[in-house]
Amino acid sequence: MNQENTKTLESPLSDFRNEPQTDFSLEVERSNFSNALKSVATHFPQDVSIIIDGREEMTSERIESLDPSDFRQIVASSAAATSDHVDKAVKAARKAYPEWRRTSPGERANIILRAAELMRERKHELSAIAVREAGKPWREADADVEEAIDFLEFYAREALRLGAPRRLQPWLLGEHNDLVYTPLGVVGVIGPWNFPVAIPTGMTTAALAAGNTVILKPAEQTPLVAWLVARIFHEAGLPDGVLNFLPGRGEVCGERLVRHPDVNMIVFTGSREVGLRIIRSAAETPEGQHFVKRVVTEMGGKNAIIVDSSADLDSAVPDILYSAFGFSGQKCSACSRLIVLEDLYKECLDRLREGAAALKIGRASEPSTQVGPVIDGEARDKILGYIELGRKEARTIHGGDVGGLASEGFFVAPHIFESNRGDHPLMREEIFGPVLTVIKAGNFSEALDIANDTPYALTGGVQSRTPSNLRRARQEFEVGNLYLNRTITGAIVGRQPFGGYRLSGIGSKAGGPDYLKQFMVSRVVSENMMRHGMASLVEGPPDNRED
Ligand code: NAD
Repeated sequence: MNQENTKTLESPLSDFRNEPQTDFSLEVERSNFSNALKSVATHFPQDVSIIIDGREEMTSERIESLDPSDFRQIVASSAAATSDHVDKAVKAARKAYPEWRRTSPGERANIILRAAELMRERKHELSAIAVREAGKPWREADADVEEAIDFLEFYAREALRLGAPRRLQPWLLGEHNDLVYTPLGVVGVIGPWNFPVAIPTGMTTAALAAGNTVILKPAEQTPLVAWLVARIFHEAGLPDGVLNFLPGRGEVCGERLVRHPDVNMIVFTGSREVGLRIIRSAAETPEGQHFVKRVVTEMGGKNAIIVDSSADLDSAVPDILYSAFGFSGQKCSACSRLIVLEDLYKECLDRLREGAAALKIGRASEPSTQVGPVIDGEARDKILGYIELGRKEARTIHGGDVGGLASEGFFVAPHIFESNRGDHPLMREEIFGPVLTVIKAGNFSEALDIANDTPYALTGGVQSRTPSNLRRARQEFEVGNLYLNRTITGAIVGRQPFGGYRLSGIGSKAGGPDYLKQFMVSRVVSENMMRHGMASLVEGPPDNRED
């Protein structure tokens, strides 16, 4: 590491700080954000190009991303990468790999920290595009960019921590044993649309910080904001070919990326269906591929909150409403099952009904909006199908109405259903929209059984003032991230490393101390330091010596 690097990152983890939220209670911040929303819209529809080896190119086929709040507005007209583009991008990434691998962790970290700075400078611009391209309300979009900055800052420091060689047992019997982490090679990053800034940035940063070269494929719905992220990395000083950007269709360029024999690792966040398919495809080792592809897949959830008899409903109800309907329930961590103990059941439902009716549904660009649109027409129709099923087969506790918004954007009103069947599709399947299903439990043990009766294990929550039940939940509630007496979404990098198990994913938690190791292989070098009878001071191989 050079002098400059040591100055920037003296103590790897100790100086990590989470990016503060924008304080929208300040008039100046509201006005800056409004201006950013106006300013980004002047460029719509914006062309989004492929970036391979530092060069941008367009394709004749285009994919349009629409504003989910106003589907007449085309936000971006994106290139659609083909299999040939994937092959070219992999070649460029392979070519750039040896040099990037040799670059010291400190130098790599400095480029990543520069990207964090650039992102900070352009925070409102990125958030404004997330509002218009992904339909994220102000606070959600702001949090998305803050999380992206956190990933940059956190993984840069992690790379330094892991980059230093470790002497395992100094001088044990005259032997040096050194453990080093080295990168894997070329990493394909495949991202979802629901955290269009944070998730692609996080997966890409981890791969780069570890010394790999990357091909980033964003979701079809949100290419523009991902393109800006890729350009920020280049502006920060990433050499050509180290990060290649391929917007396009999952079943075309995503599929080729997964199967390409020169891609060492796929890191994916998205649906269970696609994630499991990727695991299967990547397991094949075609002739000439001399490694088993590593795969990390973060997938869906069917998350539950338990409301215990002792819960404080004054705080529980707002926590439930935000967890279920924040960003229209389109978070993998969102609450979609509510398990309420008998003695509080009626009161809890009454208050939920009132609370849900008071939620403000509107365009994502309106600062007062609490429930914005869903991502696209396909998602809206799928969610409406579940709502129809709920109306027929469950009891409707709350069924909102989007009124005239339905003719402008992809809006779905929050719905709450009551079911007495734990095996009903409303209780089993990930809906990915503003639909909450409530079920009654006789006691806390039964509530835990219902909560665990799902193939997923992502997030979960308990609202309780009974210490013994909170202790039990810690032991018995089977989720990757358990939240007690609070909302169950919005994990923060470094503080709440995030990720699930079972069918919610394979891999170590994002934003935590184990994540970066997945992008590396560990090697151990053991050297016998007892050079009996050797001329130990002479450098170079023996046949070069003149003695
Ligand atoms: P998706 O699976 O439809 O798409 C994700 C990505 O995969 C997109 O870039 C898509 O183009 C690509 N893809 C599609 N088919 C492919 C194929 N055959 N081969 C390779 N790539 C392909 O998911 P989505 O709708 O973008 O995101 C929503 C889902 O993501 C939800 O299920 C949600 O729970 C999950 N999610 C999970 C986490 C987590 O951390 N566990 C975080 C966010 C979202």
